[in-house]
Amino acid sequence: MFDLNSLNPQQREAVVHRDGPLLLLAGAGSGKTRVITCRITYLLEQGVPADEILAVTFTNKAAKEMKERVEDMVGREAAKGMVIATFHSLCVRILKAHIDRLGYKKNFSIYPASDQQRLVRDLVREIGAETSSADADQVLFRISAAKNQLVRAEDYQASARDPFTSLVAAVYPRYQKKLKAYNAVDFDDLLLFGVTLLEQNPDLLEYYQRRFRYQMVDEYQDTNPVQYRLLRLLAGGHGNLCVVGDDDQSIYAFRGADVSNILDFEKDFPGTKVIKLEQNYRSTGNILAAANAVITNNTKRRDKKLWTAGGAGEQVDYLLCLDSEDEARQVMEMIHAEKYHKNLNYGDFAILYRTNTQSRAFEEQLRYENIPYVLIGGQQFFERKEIKDVVAYLRVILNATDEVNLLRIINYPKRGIGDSSIDRLIRYSAEQGLSLWKVLQQAAEVPDTNERTAAAISSFVNLLTGFRRRFQNPLRLVETLQELFREVKFADEIYRQEKDPAIAKRRVENQEELINSMAVYVERTPEPSLAGFLERISLQDDDGIGRNDKESKLAQDAVTLMSLHSSKGLEFPIVFLVGMEEGFLPHKKSIFETFDIDEERRLCYVGFTRAEKRLVLLGARQRRKYGKLEQREPSRFLSEIPAGQLNQPAPDKPIELTPEEQAKSASNFFSNISQMFGD
Ligand code: ATP
Ligand code: MG
Repeated sequence: MFDLNSLNPQQREAVVHRDGPLLLLAGAGSGKTRVITCRITYLLEQGVPADEILAVTFTNKAAKEMKERVEDMVGREAAKGMVIATFHSLCVRILKAHIDRLGYKKNFSIYPASDQQRLVRDLVREIGAETSSADADQVLFRISAAKNQLVRAEDYQASARDPFTSLVAAVYPRYQKKLKAYNAVDFDDLLLFGVTLLEQNPDLLEYYQRRFRYQMVDEYQDTNPVQYRLLRLLAGGHGNLCVVGDDDQSIYAFRGADVSNILDFEKDFPGTKVIKLEQNYRSTGNILAAANAVITNNTKRRDKKLWTAGGAGEQVDYLLCLDSEDEARQVMEMIHAEKYHKNLNYGDFAILYRTNTQSRAFEEQLRYENIPYVLIGGQQFFERKEIKDVVAYLRVILNATDEVNLLRIINYPKRGIGDSSIDRLIRYSAEQGLSLWKVLQQAAEVPDTNERTAAAISSFVNLLTGFRRRFQNPLRLVETLQELFREVKFADEIYRQEKDPAIAKRRVENQEELINSMAVYVERTPEPSLAGFLERISLQDDDGIGRNDKESKLAQDAVTLMSLHSSKGLEFPIVFLVGMEEGFLPHKKSIFETFDIDEERRLCYVGFTRAEKRLVLLGARQRRKYGKLEQREPSRFLSEIPAGQLNQPAPDKPIELTPEEQAKSASNFFSNISQMFGD
């Protein structure tokens, strides 16, 4: 029997609330997610059939966890039939059953981004618009945004104001027509078509309203207009919709999330019962005080203050470090100390950052110290495609017979050496018993190779041999790498291929981080060389932590690294929130482009409130950008925390290594690595 006494009075009220709309507006760590799982359990115990229950969350991971928690409480059998899903998976379910009513076949395919891009680029070309592929990708981005705002192809025309939006208006309907001809939908269509089906088919609407008689939504503050419309449709009639959320944690405005959904809920669902939870069960008093102090600076919010019945706990720390490497070292020191003094596990620590690029220095340091870690919601730095592309160049420059990497870069970025030419070259090299590199050097002699291709190959060969020579100068390694970036134009290619300009920008920044990694390597190594740098990277590739075995990593006791966005809903005993600087948090985009500092403040609040026992804020005085040092300013959010509440251990603590220490640290690095591999 479910024990209602394990809940506080407000939580209990929410759990036993049976019919009609319910808004649970509550701060972080107040038990919102717990209320949902308990409410499902309670409904089941009250005799509500499992298949009348629908719970929607934001990520597959959250959905899986929620399902497991309910199953733990009521048993697998009793939970059978309930639907716990993300918005997208819920819609896939509906479409699989009824998409024929929209003129698609039920075996429709869902197009990944790359296919969407190709299609839009072709259409832009077909229309004859003189745009670059980057512009074409912008068109797709706009189409996606329109769909999330419930603007359909036929309605978009009305919003065409200038040449660009007119282009979007011309492409959008053609794009939909093509998709339909291919019996394909894109990711955004899933939601939009779900809504369309319910809007156009009263029988389906009635069916689903009856089917899902009890509905719950977690992280409701991050719903966008199309998701909101779907919920209003599904809950229409009975109004048994229970949403839980925290307006202070709305962090997806950039994907069209609209906080007003939560602020207006009572208006849209008359008779809503509103329950507030303010008791926090997660964090210490000091952590909450800091979080409250920061978030009160947002103006458009429902006022609430979190409190805890627990103690004040340790003070929140702020450490101003020298640079990225120092920041990473300080975190490692604290992990060692805390783990030892408090008998904690690695799994009790989380390192949170605003942008995924920031993980690089921490990954390197964790590997150096042989501490297991898991990177959530991002790829490990050296496994990212954009990094592998550059590294492939470096490998081939060092060793031209590395054919795997040679083939990876021979037409990347595109230089007019097409697949059939490549096949021909490979065949010729096999026939003649020559290495591919040799064949490339004498490409003009390969039968059926036209002049243009031969010229492209020859300039590719020259590029590589030129760089082989330049990289031999150990004093110019960083500069040479920068030159490689400029001459190969990696960034242009990324912008050409990636539809979402924000993602493209991030990938370019990741690549630039490789230059920083080289700069640090050069600084710390007595006799740096390209070979030494690559050796270090390949050891990092294959070290004991292993790649592509996420499961075993998760099973291990490991430090968690993730972005603030992916940390939503989670909790950790010790949290390091790093990069507390202007430009990171608030992010430079919000300072200079969107002017939405409030959203950044909410992100900061999300970060603080992940911590249970100890919160450590860190920042650096300077960081490398494109290999050069840049001065940084502490985050404005730090100054919003009353001075007495921040513990600032000796400001000059950062240690600058002497050249001898640097050399020692580098040789330690390699001996440590070789110990790991026993060579
Ligand atoms: P977030 O806003 O970060 O998603 P939340 O409001 O969903 O947080 P939960 O994750 O449900 O909060 O709960 C936070 C922590 O508090 C969990 O460890 C949960 O088990 C615990 N908790 C919640 N309610 C109670 C309670 N009444 N008694 C004891 N512990 C509780
Ligand atoms: Mg939650």
